[in-house]
Order: sequence, then structure tokens, then C-alpha cells
Amino acid sequence: MALGTDWALDWLSRTAATIAVQRSHLNTLDREIGDGDHGENLDRGFTAVLTELASFDDDAVPSDVLKRTAMKLISTVGGASGPLLGTAYLKGAAAIVDLPELDGAALVAMLTAARDGVVLRGKAMVGDATMIDAWTPAVDAAARALAEGQSEAEILDAAATAAEEGALATEPIVARKGRASYLGERAIGHRDPGAQSSALLLREAANAAIA
Ligand code: ADP
Ligand code: MG
Repeated sequence: MALGTDWALDWLSRTAATIAVQRSHLNTLDREIGDGDHGENLDRGFTAVLTELASFDDDAVPSDVLKRTAMKLISTVGGASGPLLGTAYLKGAAAIVDLPELDGAALVAMLTAARDGVVLRGKAMVGDATMIDAWTPAVDAAARALAEGQSEAEILDAAATAAEEGALATEPIVARKGRASYLGERAIGHRDPGAQSSALLLREAANAAIA
């Protein structure tokens, strides 16, 4: 079943709720390898996004929701993650612009453009222990699920599962981007907070599709 504006709104409101619950865990992850503000940064941003969600017209399309989300995140999050995630939603929106409903191909295009936007802006590669370690496996898994003819919900579930595995895989490696890179070997054993939060938001995209 193709996913419309209700799905996009539900995705963002679920994301805001999850980030609020996970705020202190994300801060803790960031305290271990960065400056301890990742949960706080994202909670500020998604709380601001939440207040926007009530104000969409009936004729709004999913790209409108993602674009407004991007603007709010860029203007409120601060930190490295604000402009990076803002770019993800902005580029994701551009890939699906004006489509009232998203089929599997549109979802894969959206996720790919979002990931490409983060890479263009942050210059991180898989294995640098950043949010890209969640996003790139997610995009690859979504593309595979699409090629196998899976449903929209299955494509998003595959993306979320791969992102969760990717976030876990940042634990044994040395960070090469962002604040965590200042730690060198001391980052080993710590999960990247941005990879973790990206896995959370991708899981909520899947949860909204089965709701
Ligand atoms: P700050 O590091 O400014 O305090 P946050 O704590 O909100 O910002 O976000 C940190 C997260 O941002 C990291 O865990 C990492 O996933 C992500 N990040 C930092 N730099 C980059 C980059 N160049 N490319 C991709 N992601 C990055
Ligand atoms: Mg931080």
C-alpha cells in the first residue's frame, strides 16, 4: 500500500515521541565520545517539528511535511547533527516532490537522496562511525527489498533493521568524523549517537507504515 501524507505525519510524530524517550540515552552515548548533547539537540528539534505537524492543509503532500521538518531541524537543532539531518529531510523531500503517495521506488529514491545529502555535506564514509553507518546499509537494504518486490512496509522494515545493525557496528571502530574523531582509539567500544538516532527515526518510518 502506497504511503501518503498521513504516514509522513505519523512518522514524524512517532519520531518526536521516541527521541523524547531516548533523549537521555542519546546524551549518554554522546557523553562517552562527544559532548553529551545529542539527545538534547534532537529533542529540541523534533519538539519544534511536532508543533508544525498540526498545521498542514488537507492538500499537503509528504514532501511538504519533510521540507518543513528539515527547516525546523536546521533552525533549532544546532550541533553537527542539525544541518546534517536537516539536509537529509530536505534532499529526501526533493526526491519525492509533489507525489501524493509513495510507492516502494519513491521510498528508495527518498532514502537514497537523504543519505546522499548527508554524505555531500558531511563527507563521511561507511566505517567512519557516523550516522552514515546507519543510513548507507539502510539504503542498500531498501533497494534490495524493492528489487525483490517487497511491499512499502517491508522495504522500510528492511531499512530500519539494517540501520540498527549499522549503528551496532559502530561500537568496535574508531570514529573518523565529528567530535568523536578527537578520541582516536578511545572511541572503540562506544556506539555512535548519530547512527543510533538515525536508526531510531528509520524504525519509526517502518512503524508508521504498519500502523
Ligand atoms: P555535535 O557533535 O556538534 O555535538 P550532535 O551531538 O548533535 O552534534 O551530533 C553528533 C553526531 O553527528 C555524531 O554522532 C555523528 O553521527 C554525526 N556526525 C558528526 N559529523 C558528521 C559528519 N561529518 N558526517 C556525518 N555525520 C556526522
Ligand atoms: Mg554532541
